[in-house]
Amino acid sequence: MTFKPSVLEDRGAWLLIRQLLEGSLEALQPVLDSSSVYGFRYPSAESILERDAKDTVDRLEQLRRAGILEGELVEAIFSCTRCASPDIHPQYQCVNCSGFRLRRIEVIEHFSCGHIAPRPEFTIDEEELKCPQCGESLEGEQRDYKSESAFQCLECNTTSAQPRLVFRCFQCHEMSLPSEIQEQEAYIYRLNLEHRGDIIHYLGFHPTPEGEKPSRKKHRDDFDDVDRRILNILQRDGRLSFRNVAKRLKVSDATIRSRISRLEEKNVIKGFTTLVDPSHAGMEAISLIQLEVDAKVLIKTVQSLQAVEEVKLVMETGERQNLILLGAFPTRESLNAFLDQHVRGKQGIQLHTVTLALELQKYDWMIQF
Ligand SMILES: [Zn+2]
Ligand SMILES: [Zn+2]
Ligand SMILES: [Zn+2]
Repeated sequence: MTFKPSVLEDRGAWLLIRQLLEGSLEALQPVLDSSSVYGFRYPSAESILERDAKDTVDRLEQLRRAGILEGELVEAIFSCTRCASPDIHPQYQCVNCSGFRLRRIEVIEHFSCGHIAPRPEFTIDEEELKCPQCGESLEGEQRDYKSESAFQCLECNTTSAQPRLVFRCFQCHEMSLPSEIQEQEAYIYRLNLEHRGDIIHYLGFHPTPEGEKPSRKKHRDDFDDVDRRILNILQRDGRLSFRNVAKRLKVSDATIRSRISRLEEKNVIKGFTTLVDPSHAGMEAISLIQLEVDAKVLIKTVQSLQAVEEVKLVMETGERQNLILLGAFPTRESLNAFLDQHVRGKQGIQLHTVTLALELQKYDWMIQF
């Protein structure tokens, strides 16, 4: 199946696939529900996609056709040929006039002459039955006659033991023969493992490897004692020379150099800089900004925000407000100018709240290793 990742531009689809990748959602099970358009629905996906029952089924199908989900057939539900509704009902139709005014009646077949007619035509009184064709009195059921149920058409008066069975759609009134009825297939959807790598690559998302709990400790264990001590020392004083760090740790200069460059490669060390408390540096508008950004423009938005000097922190969250910024602006005017240029009126970006700090009580990016 071809892999078409563009469907993942939808924010809901993207959230759904993330959950499947992370394993917090394993499979999407259909739930039978005759009131929904297809006769089944996926409540767990509806809340993530923020779509109704029908749109959710359509969306999941789209994701399946795009090679992102795979479906295991679990139900084949009769549905209308025209509108796909499961609200279809079997009904008898007159084979002669195609009418629907059929009434179930009892007919009697007289064996000796072969006459078949509704019971009232044979009835003389409660005790006696007499064939209206040959005039013989009937002796007993199964001896010289049998009684069966049949359908009498009130339109054309034809009596038939087997009228035509049709399915009538209560939604669009379409009439279908049993052979014409379609089956709406309901699937259990799971992530298409064949394209798992492509999906991860497309989303730029790195789920925790299977069986491994997302744990900070585990990650921190990646550093050995020397790494930790280097990081602790450099965070306190980024101006220390490699030689001085080496001396303190009682290892060679070369060791320190190679360790630091490895930590830089891994992006653990982002640079050597001087930490200035923004509130003591004349920054009047230190603010927390909450945005709701469509998946479609998320990557682009993050990139453009990262490039803004005054934005000090860009945090992506799984909440509705999926982007939180910490900004340190010299004035309120400059904060406003930033919002005008990067946020307000931008397609796919909704500004939720801008919270201004009265006082910055702590500003510390040191991580103790
Ligand atoms: Zn008829
Ligand atoms: Zn007869
Ligand atoms: Zn229909």
